[in-house]
Amino acid sequence: MATLPVIPKIRSDHLDRLALIYVRQSTPLQVREHTASTARQYDLAGRARDLGWPSECVQVIDQDQGLSGAYAAGRDGFQHLVAQVGLGRAGAVLSLEASRLARSCSDWYRLIEICALTNTLVIDEDGVYDPTVYSDRLLLGFLGTMSEAELHWLRCRLLGGKLEKARAGQLRFRPPTGLVHDPESRIVFDPDEQAEHTIRLIFDRFDQSTSALAVVQYFADHHLRCPTRLWGGVRHGHLVWEPLSHSRVLTILHNPAYAGAYVYGRTKTRSQCLPGEEPRIRGRTRQVRPADWPFLIPGHHPGYITWEQFLRNQHRLDENRTRRDEDRRGALREGGALLQGLVRCGRCGQRMTVRYFKDSTAPSYECRSIHTRYAGPTCQTMRGDAIDAAVVGAFLEAMQPAQLEVAMAAVEQIAVQARQLDRQWQLTLERARYESELARRRFLAVDPENRLVGRTLERDWNEKLAEIERLERDAALRPTLSARLVDPDERRRIVALAQDLSRTWYAPTTLPTDRKQLLGCLIKDVTLCRGETTIQVAIRWQTEASTMLEVPRPQRSYEVRRTDPVVVARVRALASEHTDRQIAVVLNQEGLRSGTKGGFTVAKIQWIRYAYTIPSDCPEGPAACSDGYRGDGRCTVQEAAKQLNVNISTIAAWCRSGRLDSVQAVPHGPWWIRLTPEVIAALRRPDRRRWSRRSGT
Ligand SMILES: [Zn+2]
Repeated sequence: MATLPVIPKIRSDHLDRLALIYVRQSTPLQVREHTASTARQYDLAGRARDLGWPSECVQVIDQDQGLSGAYAAGRDGFQHLVAQVGLGRAGAVLSLEASRLARSCSDWYRLIEICALTNTLVIDEDGVYDPTVYSDRLLLGFLGTMSEAELHWLRCRLLGGKLEKARAGQLRFRPPTGLVHDPESRIVFDPDEQAEHTIRLIFDRFDQSTSALAVVQYFADHHLRCPTRLWGGVRHGHLVWEPLSHSRVLTILHNPAYAGAYVYGRTKTRSQCLPGEEPRIRGRTRQVRPADWPFLIPGHHPGYITWEQFLRNQHRLDENRTRRDEDRRGALREGGALLQGLVRCGRCGQRMTVRYFKDSTAPSYECRSIHTRYAGPTCQTMRGDAIDAAVVGAFLEAMQPAQLEVAMAAVEQIAVQARQLDRQWQLTLERARYESELARRRFLAVDPENRLVGRTLERDWNEKLAEIERLERDAALRPTLSARLVDPDERRRIVALAQDLSRTWYAPTTLPTDRKQLLGCLIKDVTLCRGETTIQVAIRWQTEASTMLEVPRPQRSYEVRRTDPVVVARVRALASEHTDRQIAVVLNQEGLRSGTKGGFTVAKIQWIRYAYTIPSDCPEGPAACSDGYRGDGRCTVQEAAKQLNVNISTIAAWCRSGRLDSVQAVPHGPWWIRLTPEVIAALRRPDRRRWSRRSGT
């Protein structure tokens, strides 16, 4: 059999060019400590000479000592090597193994392709590879893949170890200020009493005010500062006292470590660059929702608050957010409008806002979402005081002892039903277990030689076991009913509390925020719709039940000020025989009041007569209205002079001579003239040019 002639891979055209020795260690520590590996890499120069390269053609590239092979960027030595190969100056590239050259497949394949193009050999400790040969290229490709995979496995092993420690709650990381590690690595309260007290104060203040910003305000008002324990650096462990910021309060309130819980995985960082690319920017870090935290160990260490309180705080903070597109109540404010955050518009369904006025104690509820979003009209506006009172009435009524008794009886009934159901499940499970035990005993009792019977009994036993598993799974998935009974002591306490509620509610020491919080406990929202004469108030309770109320619509301000029709009728009756002054005296004596709830004056009577066109036939003559005419249509001398374009003395003369229809209530009193269009047409003087000194000369 004829054998193929062996063609040597290293040929003279390779030996004429450079032999590039690439030397690299991943970290400075490896360079310092793993000297044997470095020496072996430098020994490749000797191997190149053994393979036939003259000493002057052997070039060692060791610029990349202490750099990772995961990225080509930043590795000048590797870039130089690729350039030399690309220019066809290299006959061979020598490296201890593929991973030294590149840990990224893309970098590695690019190098192999360029080597194939320029006929450059790749040599490692095990052999000589010619990238122009298919089988060699395949092998080199495989080596590159393995090298990248090795990096991945290393990472996995490290991360796996880290996760295993986190699962047991032993992975140490920096505890937040207020908590420290003791010498036994346990997390304990900060030994600095002031630091501990300040953190407690933050939680207490938030409990009372339910708003992070209110905590900041409190600290600013009282010139308090918040501690930060430094981590790392020369001042490691020092406490720094700074003014409390809003973001700091939020960080503290959101941190589960203060509730004694150990949590790993609260944030997730995603890389922002392609695999193999050097990360120039840090990845994007996102908060993970508490429900998705991978490792959570409640009660891991002493906490400032309980886990339930932590969850309550999270819920409160979530509710406090005031983004317009989110359906939340918002933080409770100090203002007197009790339905703040609870009111909805009955026309468009949007949340209504509260508005306070400088000169009125009553707030108003407004639906302005269309106005603020699309510059449309305000949907509806209404005074809040009567609505608040009606809702509070319904709330206090619901909290009456008798009502509570009924509610507690209902809860008790549900609890009894839940217990009955629990008992049913228990019995079913017990029965299944008994049957399974029976099947097991039957199987064990059968003669092992009797395979036919044995097989049937074994199948039977397996089925029973599967049935138990299914039942247990179903029991776990079953929604839990409130199985708690209200014990008689508790019941008495609740009823006693309800009796005091009304008094507590109206006590001057009770703040509006307390009242709002109480309302929020029972009421989900209140929908308002303004009708012609009433406002419809729909209360939706937390139990999804609803109550409808009707509140009389408050009068508009002009309606409030309008003169009572009784007063107008009285003025009309008196006007024929009394002067305005006399009418005012009579009305005041009769105890009647004007629209603004004051007494009557001459000016007010004149205004009423003018507004309701009540003429006065009184012989003394009423004072004229501002336009010169009185109620019966007669005008003053001045008005007549203006209308007829003559002097006042002329008018007086015409009145005396009877040329004008005029009356005088008393001798030497003012004349009142009736001017008709015919009279004006007959007596009006035409406009004359005035004599002027300049034109008259
Ligand atoms: Zn609306």
